[in-house]
Amino acid sequence: MTPETGILTIDLAAVAANYRLLAEKAPGKQIAASIKADAYGLGMTRVAPVLAEAGCGFFYVANMAEALPLRAIQPEAKIAVLHGLEAGDWDTVSRNRLIPVLPHLGAIRAWRDAALERQVTAPVIIFLDTGMNRLGLGPDDVAQLLDHPEWLTGLKIEFWLSHLACSDEPENPMNAAQLAALTQYLIKLPAAPLSFANSGGIFLGAQYHFDQVRPGAALYGLNPTPDQPNPMRPVVRLEAPILQVRDVVPGMTAGYGATWRSKRLGKLAVLPVGYADGLMRSLSNRGHVSFGGHLAPVAGRVSMDLVTVDVTGVPEPLRQIGAMGELIGAAREVETVAREAGTIGYEILTSLGSRYKRVYKE
Ligand SMILES: *Cc1c(COP(=O)(O)O)cnc(C)c1O
Repeated sequence: MTPETGILTIDLAAVAANYRLLAEKAPGKQIAASIKADAYGLGMTRVAPVLAEAGCGFFYVANMAEALPLRAIQPEAKIAVLHGLEAGDWDTVSRNRLIPVLPHLGAIRAWRDAALERQVTAPVIIFLDTGMNRLGLGPDDVAQLLDHPEWLTGLKIEFWLSHLACSDEPENPMNAAQLAALTQYLIKLPAAPLSFANSGGIFLGAQYHFDQVRPGAALYGLNPTPDQPNPMRPVVRLEAPILQVRDVVPGMTAGYGATWRSKRLGKLAVLPVGYADGLMRSLSNRGHVSFGGHLAPVAGRVSMDLVTVDVTGVPEPLRQIGAMGELIGAAREVETVAREAGTIGYEILTSLGSRYKRVYKE
């Protein structure tokens, strides 16, 4: 029977293999998995246990709403929350043993006050900005903190943390500049372990590894070294069946806005995947679907629930009603789809829709 929707296959064994490969790349370092945004769209409740089984005992999520369901299924793991925790959340945070990542001096002082009030020591991670200018303490903040060591009383610094802006570009001088800025901070700040490298940072070399690395993308099969062949195992496959095939003659148009026009006698096929499923509308007249390795270009605009592709060049048995086309997979790497859509693999994965039939391969 033809499925009425796309089939999204997530290879959990590949996630575990990717974790082990990263552990080999950063020997002796703690590998903390970035599992925010529902494990980059792949399903946190399925991915986290597999990572834990592979040896992961430390997870990063974005906020409280992600941390609580993770705690429910991972009673032992360390869980750090990248942003959004406030001292007012103290009870929930301590009951669930969450570690806040503190991004500015105000947050540091609020946690210090909350800890002193309760006469306990609170585990925290402190975010240092080394050039991304997003979250974290900048040079002036660090100078103030050094003038006020009492702001850290009652806090146990689990990690100093910083984040690379250009780790996927090994030649970018920003990497060395951030490393130098971090080293300058560390000379002056109280000693504590250090967390720096994301996926790309792991591949920049051992001097970027410090005590803990925080990969996300590479675990899920994205290429941490975009200039070179992907060392990670692919995790995601997205297929969808042909719902209808029609003959076209020269001059016929297809889709909303009639933006595609046939130049020849040919065939169009319709698949039940659209922008509401994460098939970005920017793939209109630019994307491709593979039928047994034969690429069919997207013909016209991607609709909300459907996409039309030009299957004229696809051999007959592969382009019949019910035949499956591959939108992401061996013939259609996530990075390739991202390039055609004008975005990055991260956005492709985190946009994967909720209507697919999800199949998890153990
Ligand atoms: C998302 C994130 C990561 C993971 O980055 P990848 O490029 O996916 O490996 C690490 N650290 C921080 C602070 C993040 O926000």
